[in-house]
Amino acid sequence: MSQPEPSVGRIVHYVSYGTPGGEYPSVCRAAVITEVPDHLTAEPFDGCPNGTEGQWIAGLAVLNPEGFFFNRDAQHSEEQRGGTWHWPERV
Ligand SMILES: [Zn+2]
Repeated sequence: MSQPEPSVGRIVHYVSYGTPGGEYPSVCRAAVITEVPDHLTAEPFDGCPNGTEGQWIAGLAVLNPEGFFFNRDAQHSEEQRGGTWHWPERV
């Protein structure tokens, strides 16, 4: 199944980091893509064009209930690990 390419202004989900003891679980938050860098910044594809082998990074404005925060070079992962973003579930 192919994924859409990220572009500025699209809404995705950002996965918050939960606390190790589980007091706060890791949850999905709404995030707006603020930038799509030209190149990847982490191994194994550091310096390769963004999107190489389906690896995407994006800048995000994350909309937490308590406030915004901004994150650059966040990695895409459909596995929903903390600190990554994914496409919202299709309905
Ligand atoms: Zn989600």
